[in-house]
Amino acid sequence: MNEKEQYWSIRLRKVVEALEGNGMEAFVTDTRKEALTRALTLIPKGATVGLGGSRTVGEVGLLEALRQGDYTLYDQYRDGLSPEESMRIRKDGTHADCFVSGSNAITYDGKIVNVDGLGNRLAGFCFGPGTVIIVAGRNKIVPDLDAALYRVRNVAAPMNARRFGVKTPCVETAECSDCDLPERICNLTLIIEKSKIEGRMKVILVNEDLGF
Ligand code: SF4
Repeated sequence: MNEKEQYWSIRLRKVVEALEGNGMEAFVTDTRKEALTRALTLIPKGATVGLGGSRTVGEVGLLEALRQGDYTLYDQYRDGLSPEESMRIRKDGTHADCFVSGSNAITYDGKIVNVDGLGNRLAGFCFGPGTVIIVAGRNKIVPDLDAALYRVRNVAAPMNARRFGVKTPCVETAECSDCDLPERICNLTLIIEKSKIEGRMKVILVNEDLGF
């Protein structure tokens, strides 16, 4: 491990303790490959699985593993879907056995912060799926709630807006101007402070930079 990895190994373990203190199950993995293995141990074969939009889930290989594995995957990202089919699949995902996603920010004291355009990802986090699995790279870790709220609107959202190909101002300015356009992708913000159901939320922190 180099110095950066050693630093993050210590920091991530502290965040794991904080998440556990908030009623969540949490893990640290050194690599994305280990994160994939860990995630697959948490998803029973035959389970129905919903997806929250996430570059990270793709980067660790989990999206492809779910597509090819023995699961019923509600996959709104597959090619050729009509808008109506995509919306129906998103709804199905919010009451799947498992819900798999990344996260926009996680604080040192174990709060999970996300912003959505539509809200299906936040719905899956809140209620419905029996298990929620979040995979997050070390770049998502921030000191506190203010830093998390700054990050979701000034780091994650501008990069995601670029990924989605929308023409919001943040794509050009790399900062949020609280736009009022129909393409706006920041319409709902969720702060998960604690999990009422012990262990329903499972967070895998990866000692690599992943996603936005
Ligand atoms: S509110 Fe608009 S400008 Fe701000 S980050 Fe979201 S999409 Fe970009």
